[in-house]
Amino acid sequence: MSAAHDPHDLARLIRDVPDFPEPGIIFRDVAPLLADSAAFEVAVQALSELAEDVDAVVGIESRGFILGAPVALRTGAGFVPARKAGKLPGETVSVAFALEYGEAVLELQAGAITPGQRVLIVDDVLATGGTAAATAALVEQLGGEVVGLSFLLELTALGGAARLEGYRHGSLLRY
Ligand code: AMP
Repeated sequence: MSAAHDPHDLARLIRDVPDFPEPGIIFRDVAPLLADSAAFEVAVQALSELAEDVDAVVGIESRGFILGAPVALRTGAGFVPARKAGKLPGETVSVAFALEYGEAVLELQAGAITPGQRVLIVDDVLATGGTAAATAALVEQLGGEVVGLSFLLELTALGGAARLEGYRHGSLLRY
């Protein structure tokens, strides 16, 4: 097994970028991990393991798309994008929330999730948990059941886990 196959070594492929996108924020850049096919595969496998019998994987714009789409294929589920305001055509449901830096609105297409569907939510980073909690609320607004939330990494000091209380969630790496 190469170093890149060991989940513990995936951390070496996360690049810390200080003061991006704003002073005081350490941006956790997952691009080096995505660029390493062995590491990417290990990550997708691990993200897929959190929940079984999933009908839909919701990936959060934009790095959640990159991770969520292969997770959907691997789990035999459909892929649904949760997008920033104004990007999705047709009828949408939307929710506004606060970020670690700034504010955002996320949307799902109204027919993207059907009532009773089992949904796994995927994103790269769990920080304050606002984005993930908002996405879970959108899924539930459409009648879906959130059976898990999978993240590549969790910034534990920011308390995201508390925002996801009551949901099953997992992260490959914790900082
Ligand atoms: P939050 O809503 O605070 O949990 O923020 C999570 C969302 O913002 C995810 O979609 C991340 O991609 C992004 N994000 C927040 N903080 C960081 C960070 N320090 N490094 C990289 N991405 C981040």
